[in-house]
Amino acid sequence: MNQGKLLYAGKAKSVYRTDTKETLIVEFRDDITAFDGGKKDTLKNKGSYNAGVSAFFFEYLEKHGVKTHYLQMLDNNRMAVRTLSMIPLEVIVRNIAAGSIVRNYPFKEGVKLDPPVIVIDFKDDSRHDPMLNDDLIIALNLATPQELKKIKKISLEINRLLSALLAKQGILLVDFKIEFGRQGTTIRLGDEISMDSMRLWDTKTRESLDKDVYRFNKGDVMATYNSVAHRITGTAARPAGAKKKPGAEEKEGHGSLRQAAKPTAKKR
Ligand code: C5P
Repeated sequence: MNQGKLLYAGKAKSVYRTDTKETLIVEFRDDITAFDGGKKDTLKNKGSYNAGVSAFFFEYLEKHGVKTHYLQMLDNNRMAVRTLSMIPLEVIVRNIAAGSIVRNYPFKEGVKLDPPVIVIDFKDDSRHDPMLNDDLIIALNLATPQELKKIKKISLEINRLLSALLAKQGILLVDFKIEFGRQGTTIRLGDEISMDSMRLWDTKTRESLDKDVYRFNKGDVMATYNSVAHRITGTAARPAGAKKKPGAEEKEGHGSLRQAAKPTAKKR
């Protein structure tokens, strides 16, 4: 598969054309941003951890009947995906109150939200992603009522599947943000599901295992991403400070993540 022209560069990912119009390449860069781009850094290997975790989740969800844009990993940072017409909605599913819901509403941090709360924001950086409601989504023609119903149903199913999967690794899925797109009349999960787009807490200690470590300077971001990526995918993390043997790149660290989300030739 040949990588073509850059189609779009976001804050942490770039999307490229390929030689077929049905397929795009998403590159997970090492850039990390927070607070609407107000805080920015480049952290070595960060892209590969997010790519590996996203691929692992996409494969898991596909196996359980959720349609996604994922096709295969091309290397540690690049993923081949189906071309979708993206719907400019940020669908946030919340199981535990944290982040903006605590800042904006009288929820106490850490309170369980049962049933889970779905919040949908308008994906528009220039307007700072304002929150929508069903009427606004329909009035703005962002999705039809049927599509909206389907999007919410798939989001809750993803929440059910990933909450159970992460619970086995001693991780609480506090909340996450997902995006959808259309392939013809089919709605598919697009974008990514990674430590950048989820809030994850250790079940026992309740420590943050996600981008909140970066947002709020809670510790070593890359050590967290390394260990949580391997914890999620069930592979051994590279011990902090481990020395690389010359030429041993593929066998170490995130190389094993790629193995967990190994390329599959299977078309879905
Ligand atoms: O900031 P807030 O509490 O609204 O975020 C809810 C969840 O959605 C968090 O997991 C956060 O990482 C994710 N999110 C995201 N991209 C955004 C806004 C939120 O991935 N633009």
